[in-house]
Amino acid sequence: PDDPTGLLAALLGGAPMARRRAMAKAITLLESTRPDHRRQADALLNALLPYTGRAWRLGISGVPGVGKSTFIEALGLHLVGRGHRVAVLAVDPSSSVSGGSILGDKTRMEKLSVHERAFIRPSPSGGNLGGVAAKTREAILVCEAAGYDVVIVETVGVGQSETAVADMTDLFCVLQLPNAGDDLQAIKKGIMELADLIVINKADLDPDAATRAQAQITSALRLLGLHGRPDAAHGEAGGWTPRVLQLSALQASGIEAFWQAVQEYRALQEASGRLTQRRQRQARAWMWERIDAGLREAFARHPAVRARLPALTDDVLAGRVVASVAARELLACFEVGANGDPGQ
Ligand code: GDP
Repeated sequence: PDDPTGLLAALLGGAPMARRRAMAKAITLLESTRPDHRRQADALLNALLPYTGRAWRLGISGVPGVGKSTFIEALGLHLVGRGHRVAVLAVDPSSSVSGGSILGDKTRMEKLSVHERAFIRPSPSGGNLGGVAAKTREAILVCEAAGYDVVIVETVGVGQSETAVADMTDLFCVLQLPNAGDDLQAIKKGIMELADLIVINKADLDPDAATRAQAQITSALRLLGLHGRPDAAHGEAGGWTPRVLQLSALQASGIEAFWQAVQEYRALQEASGRLTQRRQRQARAWMWERIDAGLREAFARHPAVRARLPALTDDVLAGRVVASVAARELLACFEVGANGDPGQ
């Protein structure tokens, strides 16, 4: 819709309200599936790339009800009060399935959402996790170019979306309830490996339970051998031991200590060069994830593949053709087209 050049100028130098409008427009543009919008969005992203990368990218996860929006609002208000600009994005792949978003509720973060140095955007809707994550990664760049120095990406505590968010942020934080320590089985090893910080929320409800959970999770991390984590999924820990904190988002207590821990982590990552390494690894993985997705789509659209696929699938299901042989035949059909011969 808009001339990307005008959008870029508004993003980089507009007054606060104009800038927020430009951010919303730019993100809408890059979420669009229309090819001409995609081309404009790509041009815009390339133009704003030099102005990106300066924000601290914080991933936040936890089961529904753990207090994510209460926590993000308390943290966000604390940070805007200190002069930061805070953007909140979300990754919610369930929105495409259920038709409604768990994270997109408009009544969430009421105070933060009206602050002029805050920007809150619900999850892109539709598509699979890969598509939703790709759009959120691009939205991070828009926020950074617009001068937002803290970008929070929120997701629900279910499986793949947590990995996706950990893979687009500098620090990944998991929120837990005070009784979490009683049920360590509930804390998946994979999530522990992703987490750089674990926060026990709602400590006000039961301070003793929160302290117990803090101790139990800390020793569980030790048992899992995650101290130092040279080869963990996010193996750039650089001397960082995942830390367990407790706080009350509702009472906004413990927020300062949380931010202190984030700052320490950041200083360590920057000094060791591991921030750059983590972002490079993420950029490379992102590129290949998009290439894989694009190849799959092109494969599914390819005329020769479409012509052969139904019969070959039947053959595989009926036990007449080995699955790997069928795959090779289909890939051969595809390669003929990809080499310039239409292969029809
Ligand atoms: P989300 O689904 O993870 O975003 O959770 P919400 O932020 O919506 O919080 C769920 C409920 O827990 C709400 O009723 C909050 O008021 C409440 N809550 C959040 N944080 C705290 C806390 O630190 N202490 C107490 N007592 N309640 C909290």
